[in-house]
Amino acid sequence: MAKKGRVFSGARPTGRQHLGNYLGAIQNYVKLQDDYDCIYCIVDIHALTTMETTRDLKQNTIEMALDWLAAGIRPDESIMFIQSHVPEVMELHTMLSMVTPLGKLTDLPTFKEKVREQPNNVNYGLVGYPVLMAADIMLYKADFVPVGVDQAPHIEFTREIARSFNYRYGKNVLVEPQMKVTKVPKVLGIDGAQKMGKSLNNHIEIAATPEETQQRVMQMVTDPARIKRNDPGNPDVCNVFTMHKIFSSPEEIEMVNTECRRAGIGCVDCKKLYAKNLNAHLEPFRARRAEMAEHPQDVWDILEDGAKRARSIAQETMREVHDAIGLP
Ligand code: ADP
Repeated sequence: MAKKGRVFSGARPTGRQHLGNYLGAIQNYVKLQDDYDCIYCIVDIHALTTMETTRDLKQNTIEMALDWLAAGIRPDESIMFIQSHVPEVMELHTMLSMVTPLGKLTDLPTFKEKVREQPNNVNYGLVGYPVLMAADIMLYKADFVPVGVDQAPHIEFTREIARSFNYRYGKNVLVEPQMKVTKVPKVLGIDGAQKMGKSLNNHIEIAATPEETQQRVMQMVTDPARIKRNDPGNPDVCNVFTMHKIFSSPEEIEMVNTECRRAGIGCVDCKKLYAKNLNAHLEPFRARRAEMAEHPQDVWDILEDGAKRARSIAQETMREVHDAIGLP
């Protein structure tokens, strides 16, 4: 069946993925494959803008690739590759930088946030981050980019660069990508307050063992007003209940909802049930992942093959770009 267009998405190699990545990105990646030609990129060059050391870069790359593949990215159908394996992106980044007003870059909220986060490392790459992102998207002539609302300004920015480039050089070479705003949940960490993330160490890795998973789940913060076992709880403010709604059966969700409110079920049993259901959901994923992890070379081969296919699209775009600019 003909697909509806090309999707591009990139994520920094952050190693083993957590439930936030899984529910917020990976599941969507997997689903999009049914309707679109998908290109999924592990953006290692982007990662350099914030990294203190590259010691774990390779390991983090393969761990993330394993998670993606085991979760259902189909490498024969989709293109999955490492950003630095297609060096044309750096070239397009340079070309695009010539049509990008500097003030626009320094005005972006994400840039200002990074400046606050790493005041001692406000590097040139950080300013150009959205230009490199634009290069990624346009190098592969992506029609759609799946994004959360926080990324919207970057895509709008990419569209502006495409327009500026096409106008400046008088040719319609670069495709203006469209945002594919996906309603993804903001997954909270085990602290029940902040967004799940590795840096906060409030995450649950999807490749963790069932025992590790249960242990992490048992640490989850529930309704803070429920102190004693016999206090009635409020599922509406409890992150464990939010997760039940994703991983438990309708009957279990109903049971937890009712019994929590009248203290019929305690937080310990409620968490045990969630851990059991989460582990059951992740079991097939973990089995596939363990099998693939035994043959890491196969994963590197998949990434290499992806890079080859990505590169042939990239080289074609670059020929058109050179031609449009009029480079001798
Ligand atoms: P990057 O900065 O490259 O996007 P992240 O690890 O921060 O790397 O995120 C990768 C993907 O996972 C993004 O699409 C992001 O929105 C999603 N994600 C990360 N953490 C969460 C979370 N707690 N809830 C929902 N989605 C999340």
